[in-house]
Amino acid sequence: MALSEQRIAEIQERLKDLSPEEQQQKLQEILKELPQDELNEITQQQCPFCGIVEKKIDAKTVYEDGIVMAVLDINPANKGHVILFPKKHYQFLFQVSDTEVAYMFKMINKISLAMVNGLNAEGNNIFVANGQIAGQNASHVIVHIIPRYKDDGIDFKWDFKKVNDEEMLNLVSAIKKSIVTHKEVKVNKKTNSNHKEKERIA
Ligand SMILES: [Zn+2]
Repeated sequence: MALSEQRIAEIQERLKDLSPEEQQQKLQEILKELPQDELNEITQQQCPFCGIVEKKIDAKTVYEDGIVMAVLDINPANKGHVILFPKKHYQFLFQVSDTEVAYMFKMINKISLAMVNGLNAEGNNIFVANGQIAGQNASHVIVHIIPRYKDDGIDFKWDFKKVNDEEMLNLVSAIKKSIVTHKEVKVNKKTNSNHKEKERIA
């Protein structure tokens, strides 16, 4: 479904003759009223990664097929830092279908090996941020593949948290019973307030 030109014209009409601050405020109000499918449509239209897929935004492409695209990150952690993403717009990795996620990781592995063979990387990190709290800035799932070299100054270390045995068991139980083996998954409202309570992932 495409957001109709008429709908866009309506929104533009409501914003005209307002100061930039008022426009911001009005836009927030309009967004709150919008039906979920139109809201998703707008998010997608403004998504830079969908823009890359549609060739509206330039990117240094290292790999592309019908399902995924891999380009150089414009803000790399290291030279040769690649981001791979599904061509279809998904916000989080856990929303991607089993078939696509399997294919994504097959291609990630090939790029990871290409870094070793083609860039003489001594290793690499494969990294995904699911949700703003985890450092996700875009609304499109991206997987970072970062080539690593001795003394490259990148540090993924963290301080260890203390967890006692009882807490460990509670954690195991909470995760175990929530592992989804069927096709529906509950999306935590805190992860994304805009998302429907239940998202189909297949
Ligand atoms: Zn997108």
